Amino acid sequence: ALNEIPLWTPTAGQTRRISHKPSRYGRNEKLDQKISVHDGDITKLEIDAIVNAANNTLLGGGGVDGAIHRAAGPMLKKECASLNGCETGEAKITCGYGLPAKYVIHTVGPIARGGVGEEQREALRSCYRNSLKMATENGARSVAFPCISTGIYGYPPEQAVHEALATVREYLDAHHDKLDRVIFCVFLPKDKELYLQNLPLYFPAG
Ligand code: ADP
Repeated sequence: ALNEIPLWTPTAGQTRRISHKPSRYGRNEKLDQKISVHDGDITKLEIDAIVNAANNTLLGGGGVDGAIHRAAGPMLKKECASLNGCETGEAKITCGYGLPAKYVIHTVGPIARGGVGEEQREALRSCYRNSLKMATENGARSVAFPCISTGIYGYPPEQAVHEALATVREYLDAHHDKLDRVIFCVFLPKDKELYLQNLPLYFPAG
């Protein structure tokens, strides 16, 4: 459950060897109480909503999508099949079925195997923004994200982390009253490091 997932604290970064670039975001103590970095399987999280890095068909695939469908059971695919797919950058919501999470928010990240341009960057930001919007519109107050597009879709994780953190920061600035927790569910040790290194830029201390 939510109270088993520790909060990230903005001072945690200061004990790590990180470069302290100046942040363009100010301190906001309200937001510090809402961010976690959790390493592990997103399908195990007992929270309101988990985000799926799906594909345009919403009919299941590999990576985190495959794991979510396996854990949720066949009813999830059935509901997904009724949704008429999903555009890149958009998000659609379903029940969680066999998952401990109440909802799954399916979003489709950009394919970036040919490189990252403004189109991919904006699509990735849209995924985070529209997923959070879908969550709040459905009353979900705790949401976990996988590292969208950084697996099979080939978006460089060291670039994707900035889009993820900036978009979440901006959404929380505007809608902090609608969300209790945003969890960055990292699966690879390298991603955990990237998030811990970069979080102080978007959620700075002092
Ligand atoms: P995409 O097609 O959007 O790149 P992938 O599923 O290939 O999506 O990868 C997205 C991220 O999800 C990768 O960082 C991958 O390591 C991670 N991932 C894979 N399985 C899980 C899981 N069970 N829980 C959380 N993250 C996962």
